[in-house]
Amino acid sequence: MKYLLIIAVVFLAYHFWRKSRATDKKQVHPRRGTPALPEDMVSCPVCALHLPRAEAVAGEKGLYCSADHRRQAEG
Ligand SMILES: [Zn+2]
Repeated sequence: MKYLLIIAVVFLAYHFWRKSRATDKKQVHPRRGTPALPEDMVSCPVCALHLPRAEAVAGEKGLYCSADHRRQAEG
């Protein structure tokens, strides 16, 4: 249940962050060149660190910031 709340908060924060970034870009620089792809961020359930999905360590129960935290969470 605690993790659901964390995921919800992270999702909302990410959503608003992206929204505000999109608005800033529109005001400052009207579209030019190819926009950088937004990275998919995940949070470690052990330490709540946010990191790009590509750098996360996959475990059976989720994604972690390091093999250490995967071991801590999954034994
Ligand atoms: Zn961690």
